[in-house]
Amino acid sequence: MNPIAPDIAPEAAEFWEATKERRLVIQHCPSCGHQWYPRAICTGCGEQPGWAEISGRGTLHSFTVVARGPDGRRGEIPPEGGWAPAAGREGGWPISSEDWLQPPYVIALVELEEGPRMLTRLVGGDPVCDAPVTVDWHPLDDGRHLPVFRIGD
Ligand SMILES: [Zn+2]
Repeated sequence: MNPIAPDIAPEAAEFWEATKERRLVIQHCPSCGHQWYPRAICTGCGEQPGWAEISGRGTLHSFTVVARGPDGRRGEIPPEGGWAPAAGREGGWPISSEDWLQPPYVIALVELEEGPRMLTRLVGGDPVCDAPVTVDWHPLDDGRHLPVFRIGD
């Protein structure tokens, strides 16, 4: 079992189906606009929202560097304020590491071009708030892909 493959909630089934084709979709209400995360109803008007493919672009709103993974392992943290690539990750933060949960890694809050903010993982570059980011995809074992974001547009 892949420890990072999320369960599929009924409200999110369409989102996960689209990730099989590396398409990023979020809910959209004709009256109220986009919303993320998936819900049974629009939080603005109570109607059932549809789905819309989005650009996959946004900006890095905030981030944190995870120093201790969910399994308790610790990673070496860059010096305070020094997010430049450290030894062993000169290519930036990994996207398809064999060991996805080996810290350190970056959890990011991305403000999507369409408005909502998505909690995700930052890969491939060093985090700087307000930097442009673009969606990328991490394959899961069951054909789905996990949306991650990388610095750059
Ligand atoms: Zn609405």
